[in-house]
Amino acid sequence: MMEKQKIKEGIERYLKVKHGVKLKDAHDYQIFNALSLTVLEDIIDNWNNTTETYNKGRRAYYLSAEFLMGRALGNNLMNLGIYDEVKEVLQELNIDLNKIEEIEEDAGLGNGGLGRLAACFVESAATLNMPLVGYGIRYSNGLFKQNIENGFQTECEDTWLKYGEAWSIRKEDEIQIIEYSDMTVKAVPYDVPIIGYKTKNINTLRLWQCEALREFDFNLFNNQQYIEAVSARNKAEDISRVLYPNDTAEAGKILRLRQQYFFSSASMKDIISKYKANFGNDFSQFAKYNVAQLNDTHPTISILEFIRILVDEEKVSFDNALSIAKEFFGYTNHTILAEALEKWDIRLIERLFPRILQIAYQVDYELMKELRQKGYDEGAIWNFKIIANNVMRMANLAIFVGRAVNGVAELHTEILKKIELNNWYKLYPNKFQNKTNGITPRRWLRLCNSELSKFITDLLGNEDWVKNLELLKGLKKYKDDDEVLKNLMKIKHEKKVQLASYIKQEEGIEIDPDSFFDIQIKRLHEYKRQLLNALYILDLYYRIKENPNLDIPKTTFIFGAKAFPGYKRAKGIVKFINEIARLVDSDEVVSKKIKVVFVHNYRVSYAQKLFPGSDLSKQISTAGKEASGTGNMKFMLNATPTFGTYDGANIEIVKASGEENNYIFGLRVEDIEKIKHSYNPKWYYRENPSIKRVVDALINGTLNDGGCGYFEDLYNALLEERDQYYVLADFELFKKEEEKVFKDYKDKKKWAQKCFANLCNAGIFSSDRTIKQYADEIWDIKPITFKDASI
Ligand SMILES: *Cc1c(COP(=O)(O)O)cnc(C)c1O
Repeated sequence: MMEKQKIKEGIERYLKVKHGVKLKDAHDYQIFNALSLTVLEDIIDNWNNTTETYNKGRRAYYLSAEFLMGRALGNNLMNLGIYDEVKEVLQELNIDLNKIEEIEEDAGLGNGGLGRLAACFVESAATLNMPLVGYGIRYSNGLFKQNIENGFQTECEDTWLKYGEAWSIRKEDEIQIIEYSDMTVKAVPYDVPIIGYKTKNINTLRLWQCEALREFDFNLFNNQQYIEAVSARNKAEDISRVLYPNDTAEAGKILRLRQQYFFSSASMKDIISKYKANFGNDFSQFAKYNVAQLNDTHPTISILEFIRILVDEEKVSFDNALSIAKEFFGYTNHTILAEALEKWDIRLIERLFPRILQIAYQVDYELMKELRQKGYDEGAIWNFKIIANNVMRMANLAIFVGRAVNGVAELHTEILKKIELNNWYKLYPNKFQNKTNGITPRRWLRLCNSELSKFITDLLGNEDWVKNLELLKGLKKYKDDDEVLKNLMKIKHEKKVQLASYIKQEEGIEIDPDSFFDIQIKRLHEYKRQLLNALYILDLYYRIKENPNLDIPKTTFIFGAKAFPGYKRAKGIVKFINEIARLVDSDEVVSKKIKVVFVHNYRVSYAQKLFPGSDLSKQISTAGKEASGTGNMKFMLNATPTFGTYDGANIEIVKASGEENNYIFGLRVEDIEKIKHSYNPKWYYRENPSIKRVVDALINGTLNDGGCGYFEDLYNALLEERDQYYVLADFELFKKEEEKVFKDYKDKKKWAQKCFANLCNAGIFSSDRTIKQYADEIWDIKPITFKDASI
């Protein structure tokens, strides 16, 4: 535990040496930096001790192109158990810790669920003392910042490093050299401490930054060719400059391929050189000490790079290298959307790293040999091939070599086994596993909802639940206790007041904290069906106009979502929601009953305010399309019922907390399978006047997209392109279910019980549980603490 005096001295010292100012003249960001460095300084010994200890035993590596970390300061102070001390120290100096926390830029090095999962995983591993190291890319620009202008999404760059980032250490002496056929660059590691909750172990997230070998070409500069002199540097820095903002769709960009190879190669070289330093050159022991998890296919080229290094540089035979790789790598699949399965043009691969292509052919040959031996015919073999039609299919490579292949929720894994990857499942039934996703209870409850946390701690008598979330079950004995239920709803109201005031500050929009907060927050994608929610709200608008006394609670519909900048239809949906918001606001009668708000720049730090201030969690993806979802778990943990389809982890959420405490509606996977060939959205449009009315509003001038064609495109998606996501098929079922919500909400006690049941049963969605399963069932690693950790 840090003493208050030490904290104060640290802040003053770092203000002096880093910023050259005295406390009285310091800006908030300078105080943020000085405070962060003070804490960093204090944990360095523990961090080094942890690393040394992990180096000696079996370790796991989590390879991910994305880590959506959000802010570090508050979480680190809380996990170290010094949040209150620091708050008091700052108070004595007349500084508000909360204001300092809000200064921190989110580390937005990810798009959405996949990147946030990686962030929750490294935090859970640290909390559990699991020897796990994260490897990723230190993008100079994270996910774009979103603005809403006149209802349209606009984007600008996310320069999160502008004040310098306090929470990482550049490791100049652990640089790796990365070679492409047309350039050679440096991969510079920046180590981020991953501080677990109440443990002295400090884990590491190693993010690679790309730099040129030389800052500039002196001779060119001397010849006054200034642009040419720095062009190699710029080209190198481009590699880790930006995170690709496309969620789920494949990006066929050369630079993206360079990025993937860049961090894969750097990580493999790092892992191999550490192995050699600790255990020597005998690679027969390599897989005993090392295991790597591929978070989706983005790092899959690591497999080929690993084999290349062993064969070309370490003189291991190809057969041995492949069999070591088969013990070393595991693969997590995150999606069944066909457009998201990565395929790379082999001409590109050949151009950038020809040797990698040769290795890929060799691996493919081994696969074909095995299949032929097992009696597969050439037609069947084609589907398994790693290289076919001049593309490299990254998932096939990962499944063939992977020691385990896992889906991220029960339904998702079943779909992989029975449908999408059925051929692979039949070949390797034992490789397939399920690992239902999870979220860290530290950030997603203890930090973002201290009020609810205190409520739980008071009832359970201690804070053990923060590390052992299943203990929430112990609350169940209070499920009929009026006082407890009333307190729960009082806290919810308080969090809604806080959210309303934040929305006022950020959006300039007033919302009524006494209204029902119905929230849908997630990346904008057709399969997530924000459009269905919007069409429902538009229908509600018409119904209130027809009947101003319509019996519904006053409701605020809140959306938050970034759309991939090139995804026209998603941007059309953003505009559509904002036009509905405008329509509602402009109507004196309707605006008394409902309100629509689209919050801009949805990100981790905004999410931490939205989940706690919610009454309803909207999870309405087309059944079979959302692999798991983790936003659904964050709502549940903040005592909010789910309104959703039978999809992803929604199914497991409802199984845990009871159908009666949630709202499940809509077509299920089996239903869709049955109707998919005969589905005719125009029938719904003709037969259902409510549907006709809202769909027509897209093209009859009711709503205006400024002539850009967005709304006509949405109209066509629904009627002319056969409504790929079954929006119209689920419309009426959605409407009925929401009516049920409104009716149930009237009974305050019953509603509180539903909220409470969700909280009590959220334990299994802790990422601690998920990490333990990976550790036991795939990685075979065990918790370990360094020798003097208890002192
Ligand atoms: C949790 C989270 C997500 C994932 O949300 P889903 O509803 O599971 O898609 C995306 N973005 C942020 C900022 C998150 O915190």
